[in-house]
Amino acid sequence: MPAPIVAVVGRPNVGKSTLFNRIVGERMAIVEDQPGVTRDRLYAHAEWLNYEFRLIDTGGIEMSDEPFLTEIRGQVELALDEADVILMVVSGREGLTREDEVVAKMLYKTNKPVVLAVNKVDNPEMRSEVFDFYALGLGEPFPVSGSHGIGLGDVLDALVAHFPDEAAEQEDDAIRFSIIGRPNVGKSSMVNAILGEDRMIVSNIEGTTRDAVDTRFVTNDGDEFVMVDTAGIRKRGKVYENTEKYAVMRAMKAIDESNVILMVLDAETGIRDQDKHVAGYAHDAGKAMVIVVNKWDTLKKDNHTMTKFEEKIRQEFKFLDYAPIVFVSAKTGQRLDRLPDLIRDVDDNHRKRVASSSLNDVLMDAIAINPTPTDNGRRLRVYYATQVAVQPPTFVIFVNDVELMHFSYQRFLENKIREAFDFTGTPLKLIIRPRK
Ligand code: GDP
Ligand code: GDP
Repeated sequence: MPAPIVAVVGRPNVGKSTLFNRIVGERMAIVEDQPGVTRDRLYAHAEWLNYEFRLIDTGGIEMSDEPFLTEIRGQVELALDEADVILMVVSGREGLTREDEVVAKMLYKTNKPVVLAVNKVDNPEMRSEVFDFYALGLGEPFPVSGSHGIGLGDVLDALVAHFPDEAAEQEDDAIRFSIIGRPNVGKSSMVNAILGEDRMIVSNIEGTTRDAVDTRFVTNDGDEFVMVDTAGIRKRGKVYENTEKYAVMRAMKAIDESNVILMVLDAETGIRDQDKHVAGYAHDAGKAMVIVVNKWDTLKKDNHTMTKFEEKIRQEFKFLDYAPIVFVSAKTGQRLDRLPDLIRDVDDNHRKRVASSSLNDVLMDAIAINPTPTDNGRRLRVYYATQVAVQPPTFVIFVNDVELMHFSYQRFLENKIREAFDFTGTPLKLIIRPRK
């Protein structure tokens, strides 16, 4: 099951992004790396003790043209829609303000747990300042200093104490997938087309603590699917939804919660940088992927149109060479019926296990055709390989010296593994280890 989500809320300048950065540490997810954007992180993975969780900095959504009340309402709505636990931040330096009270009032209406952090308490003498904040009615205020890294342990302890119980989650055989793509590529139209035709919608899953956003359906073949974040795709018309960063964050979150990603491109407008950004995140996260080119009906086609488009995709998305491509039209319904089978096939490959004996036969044959590289007279030796994990399939290859395994040779071995076993649609992870 996906890791719980903590959302950080509070009026501007109390230190939300400072705290976010402290908690996330070095393992950052860059949401946007344009120069001039100081606050580029909105969504990231974090851990504390044995807990993994995800953190959203609602202040990073940047609705700065909006008046305070609209902006803060947007932040709180975002937190309520996405999070399991809310971290409200105030400032011990400025003390309790009217604006803090406004934020707290909005949080009363929810039944989500709230942890209150009083930031900028940089030294012990200031600790008495926190008592004023009991007046917010959100329970015990925890003094912290984001810039000095003081007091974070207590806040994190309080947060993880509210995480949903993992034991309560039940086993599930359904295939979890999400539809990802820029605005206007046709995601909603695709959802409606897929769900509209002879599919039985089993039920909307009530998230344990989150709003129901996933749709479960069964195909005529009896395969069960869960479409992740259907509500997000269908657009709910909230203030914060118009921001670009929100769209990217939402996509990252849906990717984390899925096994298979349908990456939708628009045949009419072609490939954009934003497409690569999200695809790169899915690849790094080790998810299975199908590339769906939508609006195929809008092109004047000849015998080469499809091949040319495919070549262009392969060129632009070199790292996704394993992903099958399908050309569809959500408008006419062309080839949409192929999607369920494709999703199931790549999901099968994503969780495929191969026997060590066959794997080693394949590698030894590969090495016989194309001998291992040498460096300064030393030759790479490959001793043994074994699959250690699925989703994505992960292999450990034992060698004499890790330094001798060049990228191109590793690529060659990966291709040989792909030729021998069908791993269409899934990234593979190769871990090279020294054997003494
Ligand atoms: P946000 O708007 O709530 O995300 O606030 P920022 O994280 O951008 O911080 C606002 C300002 O407060 C910045 O100038 C920070 O350097 C400062 N700040 C953040 N945390 C602390 C802290 O623990 N102590 C002090 N003294 N200043 C802090
Ligand atoms: P989303 O923002 O990705 O969810 O995109 P929408 O589903 O809202 O579609 C954006 C626009 O593209 C709408 O005007 C749709 O009618 C149109 N559209 C979606 N799919 C197709 C398609 O296959 N062909 C054509 N011609 N238009 C499409």
